[in-house]
Amino acid sequence: MIIINKSKHIICIATSISLSLLFFFVLFPGKHALAAQNFVMLRSDMVEKQLKARNIKSEAVLAAMRTVPRHLFVPENLHSLAYNDSPLPIGLKQTISQPYIVAFMTEQLEPVPGMKILEIGTGSGYQAAILAHLGCEGYTIELLEELSLRAKKVLAELHFNNVRVRCGNGYLGWPEEAPFDAIIVTAAPDEIPEKLIEQIKEGGKIILPVGPANSVQSLKLITKKNKRIHEKNLLPVRFVPMMKY
Ligand code: SAH
Repeated sequence: MIIINKSKHIICIATSISLSLLFFFVLFPGKHALAAQNFVMLRSDMVEKQLKARNIKSEAVLAAMRTVPRHLFVPENLHSLAYNDSPLPIGLKQTISQPYIVAFMTEQLEPVPGMKILEIGTGSGYQAAILAHLGCEGYTIELLEELSLRAKKVLAELHFNNVRVRCGNGYLGWPEEAPFDAIIVTAAPDEIPEKLIEQIKEGGKIILPVGPANSVQSLKLITKKNKRIHEKNLLPVRFVPMMKY
């Protein structure tokens, strides 16, 4: 009798401790939980104020931008700035593009699940993650090994398994996987790289900035129709240069 009472007592104490802990964590969530909630709010704000307000309309693109944790693609000391309306440094003199530019370029490609898309200039891996979130079959090339390895790691940790990352020269494209439905170039060459035009499907698109380094470039949309190239200037932009080697 005494033993039963004692064990009941212990169960009672254990239950009240668990309940108190539960209330404690509900009322005072940990640093990480708070940070995660905060990033969700910052992403939602970014979508409303930077993207919808500037006429990004694709629901799929807006959802991708609302979901992919952009802060995990920038250095830790810049996490709090990841959802600002600006590009950010990612090391080795390279940058992750401003959220609006990522959304705009993605929307122009009219991505649908299963579309085969090549990206030149992996950088942080964020643009590739947006395409992967949209269900595209992504291929991304980065010239700098350190960035390529870092992006590969983040993409794997976030389970974006539908992107292949290669370290190499983007001017050559990815001939073994060509042709692509679309190509997105996130560094600026002086001229449209010939090999990339060859690697696009009939009816496919390339979006890329073209122009001199450290100056205003033109964001162009190239479409290949009846073996002919149509070129449209979309926006003045400023990207890091597409390096020759
Ligand atoms: N899309 C990236 C940002 C790209 S910044 C993101 O979402 O973070 C441009 C990147 O292009 C840089 O990382 C730079 O190293 C890379 N780059 C420059 N010239 C290149 C080339 N010839 N081939 C492949 N990558 C190149």
